[in-house]
Amino acid sequence: MAPASKDISAFEIMGDYWTLLIVRELMYGASIWSDFSGVIAIPPSTLSNRLAKLVTAGCVVKSVVPKRAEGAYKLTEAGKGLFPILIVAREWQLKWDLRPGAFVSPWIHECGAPLHCKTACLACHEEIISQDILFNGATQAHGHGGTLNHRTSNKPNADLRTSNAKMAKITVFLGDQKALKVMDALLQGHNRFDDIQKWTGLHPAILSGRLRKLQLLELCVLRLYQELPDRVLYLPSDAGKELIGLITQLMKWDADRNCTSSSKPVVHHKLCGEALKVSLICCACKGRITYENTSVNL
Ligand SMILES: [Zn+2]
Ligand SMILES: [Zn+2]
Repeated sequence: MAPASKDISAFEIMGDYWTLLIVRELMYGASIWSDFSGVIAIPPSTLSNRLAKLVTAGCVVKSVVPKRAEGAYKLTEAGKGLFPILIVAREWQLKWDLRPGAFVSPWIHECGAPLHCKTACLACHEEIISQDILFNGATQAHGHGGTLNHRTSNKPNADLRTSNAKMAKITVFLGDQKALKVMDALLQGHNRFDDIQKWTGLHPAILSGRLRKLQLLELCVLRLYQELPDRVLYLPSDAGKELIGLITQLMKWDADRNCTSSSKPVVHHKLCGEALKVSLICCACKGRITYENTSVNL
């Protein structure tokens, strides 16, 4: 097996609409092409391309199946490590997207309870909330122009598990690496247009579009801080602030693998003063949530 590429960050892997859906299906045990194409309206070339990239990222291994040119795919340990990211995203979706019709994975924890989670500090065990996170030295943008960065805007809903035309809000957000990067900037305290632009490295027109998208998703609110000429701050909404759990899980995946293209902000938990290490806790039994100790009832 080829060693995992350390150049591909969790932001790049999860910040792609198709890859997000493919990883979800892999978590359910999907292995061969028809397992994916049965639930995602994905063109074969796109499926092939995204699976190849997951192999390069070290998240998936491919094995040869007799008489099947496309082979079979299985999650590696690094791939299973993406599970908390999906679960935190799912929790956000359950709380903040109240429109009917969006699909939510029916995961069950080993304690028997339907999965509800919170992201907790490993040192003090308190729940992670955005006000308690201190970002220092966050001067460098997350790696961009990465190999998994593809155009994702204006994509029709191709997730056949979703019962109507509404794509889950979290998928619209998470599957767009640029939107993810802008939200990361807002949560790290970059709130003026120029500052966000400098930090993310995005073209101003692209940044404007993503800020608009975040407003439409109700993740970002504007506050006027100067008149004539009008200047605004872009601030995370309450729903946006709760994406901190997702951002910390993305950073954790990179940190666990020493991802080389990821920025390494020094992050502390204000409550206990420790360098931030997070874990995912079951709200019912307070036990840890991992891929291995959960099951899905499809
Ligand atoms: Zn703490
Ligand atoms: Zn539990």
